[in-house]
Amino acid sequence: MATISTLETPPARQDGFVLPAALIAGMPAHTGSRKGAENASGGAPDATPICNASTGAVIGWQEHAGAALVDEAVRAAHTTLASWRATAPAARGARLKKIAELIDANRARLAALQMQVSGKPPLEADIDVSDAAATFHYYADLCLDAQAFAPEALALPDDTVTGERFYEAVGVAALIVPWNFPMVTTAWKIAPALASGCTVVLKPSELTSPVEHLLAEIINEAGVPAGVVNLVNGGGEVGALLTAHPLVDKISFTGSTASGKKVMQTAAQDMKRVTLELGGKSALIVRADADVERAVTLAVGGAFTNAGQMCSATARILVHDDVYRKFMAAFETAVRAIVVGPPHSTNVAMGPLVCAAQRARVQSLVEQGVQAGASVAFSGSVDQACADGFFMAPVVVAEPPADNLLWTDEVFGPVACVKSFRTDEEAIALANDTRYGLVATVVTADREAARRYQTQLRAGLVWINTPQLIFPQICWGGLGLSGIGRELGMAGLRSYQELRHALAAVG
Ligand code: NAD
Repeated sequence: MATISTLETPPARQDGFVLPAALIAGMPAHTGSRKGAENASGGAPDATPICNASTGAVIGWQEHAGAALVDEAVRAAHTTLASWRATAPAARGARLKKIAELIDANRARLAALQMQVSGKPPLEADIDVSDAAATFHYYADLCLDAQAFAPEALALPDDTVTGERFYEAVGVAALIVPWNFPMVTTAWKIAPALASGCTVVLKPSELTSPVEHLLAEIINEAGVPAGVVNLVNGGGEVGALLTAHPLVDKISFTGSTASGKKVMQTAAQDMKRVTLELGGKSALIVRADADVERAVTLAVGGAFTNAGQMCSATARILVHDDVYRKFMAAFETAVRAIVVGPPHSTNVAMGPLVCAAQRARVQSLVEQGVQAGASVAFSGSVDQACADGFFMAPVVVAEPPADNLLWTDEVFGPVACVKSFRTDEEAIALANDTRYGLVATVVTADREAARRYQTQLRAGLVWINTPQLIFPQICWGGLGLSGIGRELGMAGLRSYQELRHALAAVG
């Protein structure tokens, strides 16, 4: 991959740095100058601004790739595939280990960039860096695990044959990520893809691509051979070009359910393998026996971390009647105390939304929800000093009608709804009354009850009395409209491998 240092040495253009349209093996960083008519969808922008979410200021630009650059990137990955796939897993793991170490070494730079483009508070930005590093460490170690790669002999009911099960890298993987945890979702894809022996073309979100450009620089510095990791910039139209490319074998997509459906339709043309990590509308359940203080802490974290821009946001909070008043009083105090502000403001707990359009979208959903009968119980506040950034106060809606869009639809912003319940059956029915199924949280002192919830809630991951902990050893993924497949863990590796078998005659 061509190295870039666009963030330190920006080429002159309007204001700030310019990210090249593509980073492709052995080639100079591409500008979007060859885009023009090559872009199949036409009308797509040549370049888009990158903003500081806390100030609204344009800090740089990213050029967008066109069809020709997407094609070059996929061909580079295809050309390098055979040699990377043939590289011993341990040697691939050594590169991953180096990436993990370099992420740690560049912690301050990566976190600063996250804070700049997304406005994340320092703690959240730092957690993102730790998560990315941990993911590369995990898959580096897995590369040394013989079971992950060595053929397995099969016990068969016929002694005239022997059988083996083995795994092989799927091929060229197109990796498409959103803007809410750019470094994290990217690490969750690149690390297992490279561990498996796949080569990749990454398309970051058009809103947060500087983070991935820095990550690409780190991957290059770690000695990953040219052509193994390639990057193309752009929006949905560039993602669509990438997913439609005939030399792409596997698509791993994280984003909205609406986009995921389009990706799946495109993938169907060539039977490309897909992993889809999509939206959510998850529940947090507070039983009557819950520690209410802990429940409030988990509710605040589940609904307002990353300004609620989380697929895993537990924005439907279900509280048992017996503790409802106590919970609401403490929740109101906690929400009003949330300091909303730029990353370096004192005691900041919540940053801005990612861009003006996202804030307008969330505010419009709140207005529509209220017009349709929901009422805001209380909200937080945003300091006047934040007027130029994309800030929004946290909002809590109480007892929305069951068909209100704030209760049914993914808002992807700092908006939580609270409803009361009387029985576990009612809570489970309310929690499961959605076509999504990503995560759930249960707060209870009763282990047996927790186990019942764990099995009866339709969710890929259930947290019991814990914040939203995620480890590379635990698989991530949802049911229903929340997607298909699992990331992280051994399943994350297997999702970049084809399962194959061989039978051989004895003698
Ligand atoms: P989005 O679907 O608009 O975009 C996601 C990515 O897909 C971007 O890079 C975008 O450019 C690209 N894209 C858009 N249309 C495409 C198409 N037709 N073909 C190929 N690529 C296309 O989503 P977003 O607004 O960036 O992110 C928010 C959504 O992501 C939310 O719905 C959230 O729940 C979801 N998300 C899910 C997870 C998860 O793990 N389940 C994690 C983070 C975010």
